[in-house]
Amino acid sequence: MIQTTLPAEAAAAATVVAEVADVWARSCPLCAERLPRSEHLRGVFAQDPYAEWAACLVTHYRHEHVGYYDRALHSAAYRAAMGPRTEDEFSYDAFKVQVNNRAKRQLIRGILAASMPLREKYALIGGFRKLKGNDGETSSLITVALSRRGMRP
Ligand SMILES: [Zn+2]
Repeated sequence: MIQTTLPAEAAAAATVVAEVADVWARSCPLCAERLPRSEHLRGVFAQDPYAEWAACLVTHYRHEHVGYYDRALHSAAYRAAMGPRTEDEFSYDAFKVQVNNRAKRQLIRGILAASMPLREKYALIGGFRKLKGNDGETSSLITVALSRRGMRP
């Protein structure tokens, strides 16, 4: 006998796969560039495509939207020109966390202003909450952004 309808579980799984594929058909809400997918982030966020999308956006933003990040990492002269900071402040991890938090806030503000389906917009902002290294300012912004939709922070 040929089964004409999928069992409920298979249908639900097919819906999830279609939604994930749909998410990855999306791009950066700020510049519309299609994001390359990172195998590392894909593994880290295997169960959470919106957190993976948020993480890819942070990487994309750090390298494509703020030129000072790459320049500061690669040029001592550029670092000196940025003002009186210690070399420790430019240590890879500390600087990356600082730049990431700035990127996250810019991205969240951009996503709020972007023309996206509301469900996707707030699911994506919720994805930022799952990322590591959010500082107080970023966490507050996420909470405020999600509370606009009456979503639990
Ligand atoms: Zn972009």
